[in-house]
Amino acid sequence: MHELYTVLAEYYDAIYRRRAERIGEEIDFVEELFRKETEREVRKILDLACGTGIPTLELARRGYQVMGLDLHDEMLAVARKKAEKEGLNVRFIQGNALEIDFEEEFDAVTMFFSSITYFDDSAIHELFNSVKRALKPDGVFITDFPCWFYGGSFPVVWDEMKGDERLVITDWREVEPAFQKLHFKRLVQIIRPDGGVRAFMVDDELNIYTPREIRLLAERHFRKVKIYGAGHELRPNDRRYWLVALK
Ligand code: SAH
Repeated sequence: MHELYTVLAEYYDAIYRRRAERIGEEIDFVEELFRKETEREVRKILDLACGTGIPTLELARRGYQVMGLDLHDEMLAVARKKAEKEGLNVRFIQGNALEIDFEEEFDAVTMFFSSITYFDDSAIHELFNSVKRALKPDGVFITDFPCWFYGGSFPVVWDEMKGDERLVITDWREVEPAFQKLHFKRLVQIIRPDGGVRAFMVDDELNIYTPREIRLLAERHFRKVKIYGAGHELRPNDRRYWLVALK
């Protein structure tokens, strides 16, 4: 488990190149949510499960004071290197999102790119609790998660380059509908120019949540909860959801 965030950490941005290129649009939407939904000015942000800092650094570029936290040192090493290269002042710290110990320190807490699906329905309550504690009064928690019902057809295969290495990525999944568990399977083959191949297998257990479930769970902790679609108000066929929850 978690090979994607350890041995493959240096390849993460190449694997998700297309998403990384669109991060500006994603953060435009987050800023729109800050303006529309929050009742306090957002300056200080805690980005949980920040990974290699794709969203974290975009927030920092826009002038927010950001702290990134992640479980895996390998991901943080990539994030720190990128921050240094751009001269961005972001603190990246290693930790478990369930064990954070901040009290009323942040205007906003974020958790991007389906990271919330790592938490099962017992852990998600712990998470909401610690997020709420970390937020200042009227602070906001924003997180996005996908719809698993219409996954398209699998396996999905694509390739990307990292330097002179070619990555061939094959994704598929195994679902346990009764337990709402999804085994996210990914084979990453790294091919050198001389034909040498290394292969890594990712097998992570994720939790399937519907927008209604997330809303009902969040309502037990936050005073105002709203689900958006990707970049707009929720529409019937949306496949990605954004939870906006006010302390
Ligand atoms: N938010 C980033 C990274 C998403 S990948 C982005 O938008 O690009 C998911 C990340 O969740 C990984 O970096 C993994 O290390 C992290 N993660 C998983 N469980 C975690 C936990 N309990 N606490 C902190 N980080 C966690």
